[in-house]
Amino acid sequence: MEDIRFCPEHGYYRGDKCEICNKKGEVVLDKERVEKLGRFVSGILRHFPERFKLKMDENGWVDFDVLSKIVSRKYRWANKWLIKAMVYSDKKGRYEISDNKIRARYGHSVDVKLNDYEEAENEVLYYGTSEEEAERLLEIGIKPVNQRYVHLSTTIEKGIEVAMLRTDEPIILLIDVKRAKESGIRFIKANEFIVLSEEIPPEFIRLIESD
Ligand SMILES: [Zn+2]
Repeated sequence: MEDIRFCPEHGYYRGDKCEICNKKGEVVLDKERVEKLGRFVSGILRHFPERFKLKMDENGWVDFDVLSKIVSRKYRWANKWLIKAMVYSDKKGRYEISDNKIRARYGHSVDVKLNDYEEAENEVLYYGTSEEEAERLLEIGIKPVNQRYVHLSTTIEKGIEVAMLRTDEPIILLIDVKRAKESGIRFIKANEFIVLSEEIPPEFIRLIESD
């Protein structure tokens, strides 16, 4: 985790210096608090809105003011501006704010439909995993585990990054999106790096051989 700082010209950013003008802005939220705030907000938006009686619509949206109140009840130092700072500086594109509503872009375990997401245009996508798991997935397909959707990567590099969280020897599976779409599977764009889908049957998955 990195501190969130504010550049008067370019807004909130993570890390030491503004990536655009290279000046060092003031810290608005230190990294410990960024982590706490992120864990709590993403937890609510992805997994437990009902724990706070928060109303979530079928596309995952909740009222931003109501969420802000819940958050500042838990963390006295938090407020809606800091939540916005966290959202707008998030490099992984975890959140979206629109019309005074907020939602998580991916990672849901709650049953959301996400009907207002754009369809993904990718012809192929990648899924990074371990060698042992890869063998199994090639047989039974990729199913969402503890999550509502399967999370696929738009590049091999991102697939490797995901797999490296679990294994030192990542295996990358390739998904034939074009053919999977023809069979009626829906692929939606969470952000630049992540595409969500329903279960992928084994016939649309193959191993990328490393050289
Ligand atoms: Zn700047």
